[in-house]
This record gives sequence, C-alpha cells and structure tokens, in this order.
Amino acid sequence: MKVNFIENVHPNIQKLRPYETGKTIAALKRELGLESVIKLASNENPLGPSPAAVEAARASLASTGNYPDPAGYDLRQALAKKWQVSPEQLTLGNGSDSILGMICQVFASDGDEVLVSEHGFASFIIYTLANRATPVPVKEVNWRTDLTAVAQHINAKTKIIFLANPNNPTGTYFSDNELEEFLHKVPEHVIVVLDEAYFEYVDAPDYPDTIKLQKSFSNLITTRTFSKAYGLAGFRVGYSISHADIADLLNRVRSPFNVTTPSLAAATAALGDHEHLQKSIAVNEQGMQQLTSELAKLDLTYIPSVANFITVDMERNAMEINQALLNEGVIVRPLRPYNMPKHLRLSIGTESENARLIATLQRIL
Ligand SMILES: *Cc1c(COP(=O)(O)O)cnc(C)c1O
Repeated sequence: MKVNFIENVHPNIQKLRPYETGKTIAALKRELGLESVIKLASNENPLGPSPAAVEAARASLASTGNYPDPAGYDLRQALAKKWQVSPEQLTLGNGSDSILGMICQVFASDGDEVLVSEHGFASFIIYTLANRATPVPVKEVNWRTDLTAVAQHINAKTKIIFLANPNNPTGTYFSDNELEEFLHKVPEHVIVVLDEAYFEYVDAPDYPDTIKLQKSFSNLITTRTFSKAYGLAGFRVGYSISHADIADLLNRVRSPFNVTTPSLAAATAALGDHEHLQKSIAVNEQGMQQLTSELAKLDLTYIPSVANFITVDMERNAMEINQALLNEGVIVRPLRPYNMPKHLRLSIGTESENARLIATLQRIL
C-alpha cells in the first residue's frame, strides 16, 4: 500500500477504537459448531418485540418503495401525547445512539471539552472524538457518577456533559435531588444530556423526572430508546426530548430519512402495547431477583443495578471466564473496554436463560 491513510486523518480519529459489540448468536454457533447458544450480552429484551409492533412493521412493507416519512409524524405525535410535550421538542434517531452523535456534531468541535463519567457509555467518547472534541472522564465513587466532581470539571471549554442514568455498564443511578443540585451549578449554555436508555425499568421513587426539569433547565436533553424495554433493538429507533430550539439544531444535521418505514410503524405500535411493556418489566424484576440471589450463593459481588443487566466482580481477570462461558454457548459482556477487566456484565434473560447462565458459571468456577 502506497498511501498511509491513517497518517492523514485527524489525531482524534487515529485515537478512536470502534465500539465493541457483543458476539452474535449466529457467529458463536458458526465458530464453535454449537447448537444452542444464549445471548445475555447486549441488554436486549428477552421477550423480544411486541407482536403488535411486528404486525405493524409487516403491514408497512408494501409501502417501502417510497422513502419513509422524514418527520416521523405519527410517532412524534404519539410520543408528544405520551410525555405531554410538543412534537417540536422531539427528535427521532436511528437508535438513540445516533442522536448522541448529532448532539456532538451540533455542540462540540475542535478544542472543546465534553465531560463523561469514568465508566460512562462508550458512545459518548466515540462521538466526542469523531467531532474533534476532547472527552474528559470524571472519577466515580462506588461505581456511581459523582455529580459534585463533574461540576468541578466544568470550565470555559466545556460544551456538553453526557450522563447516562442509569449508567451502562454499571447499572447505578443518581437521584432527583442530586441532579437538581448539579444542574444549578451548570452554566446555561452547556448542554446536559441525560441518556435514559433504561428509563422504563427504573422503579426507584427518587429517580429524576427530566422532562419536568426541562421547564427550569432549557439546556437539558433527555434521550430514550425503543431498543431495550420495548424490545425493538433491531429496528433502530430512539428519540430525544429537549427545548424546541435544540431540536431545531439537531434537525439541521439529522440525515433526512434516518428512521425507516417499518421501524416507524413498529415503534408507534409498540408505544400502544402497554401489556407487553409491563410484562417485559415484570420479567426483568423477577430475573433480577433470581440472578442476584444465585450470584450471592456463588459468593460473587455485583454492583446493585436498577436496569436490565447486572455487573459482576469475578475477582480475577474475567476474560478466561468469558471464554469458558462462550465455549458453553453463553454470551455475556466482558468489560475490559471500560477498564473494568475483572467485571462481566450479565443481561437479565428469561427464567430459563438465567438458570442456564448460573448453572454454567457454577460449573466453570
Ligand atoms: C443501549 C444504550 C443506548 C443505545 O441505544 P440505541 O439502540 O442506539 O437506541 C444508549 N445509551 C445507553 C446507555 C445504552 O446502554
């Protein structure tokens, strides 16, 4: 090769490492010739999508000769009604992940700083670097975002603060009081992103109502997704709620047909299927009980989580245990990319999937 392409790209891109996704079931079956594989690695809904969502997507297929509705009118109307906001406050994304990218494109550039928590979600760093800005990680306390420390790191270069609540991969959350106290310390021009990908699962009475907080703090952006509790990860639909002026800016960099016709149909139908959502939340609660009590029996320490996954301290390099699980057809998530080499993140599955995971772990340990 004559051209050294990497030499000619921005240093931030040289530094970037692609997001490490979990292994797929098909890939593991192929590689090891296994017949039965379970995946508890990407925090997907083990019940899958609402049947109503699948049916709506199927019914939309005949019209896919046309571009999708660029405004996502029906879905934005339904979301506006559900959250009591105006449709102008809503931005749709090809997954909420893509909205995180739009936020960086709009609000951060060369020389700007973006604050993230020490073990914050990996996409925050990828999009910050991709947009030529500098991610600044802030130390956590007991695997929790330390909002006091985050506030202390704000300076004239700070443009965006990314906070996942609950955070992935730790599963911890911060309270309404903590957040409100923090927001009073943030200058009005600094964007605060509350990534609430696991919102539907959280049961804590002191979990913040960030849509209400937007009435006092116009620099807040709340992002949510259909990929987790709604079980539509493969459709790639997420959204943000913000001040309409912020939504207008995001819309300027949004790719015009970013959510496909079947995805819009599926998400709109999923919003109407309360029963499936409630069942998904109940299965998660039971699974969390099941996994935590079994992990305690195995004498394993875990980080208490309010989401649909649990991060476990394996007390030694977890890569070996991860490989042993893979050999037995169980895919979980090693957290080495998050500088947590002793931890594995386990997504909560169905009762039988959880049982298989525990039985396999028991054998390995
Ligand atoms: C899964 C996840 C997302 C991304 O979800 P999309 O599928 O892109 O909507 C965003 N933030 C966090 C913290 C997540 O765990």
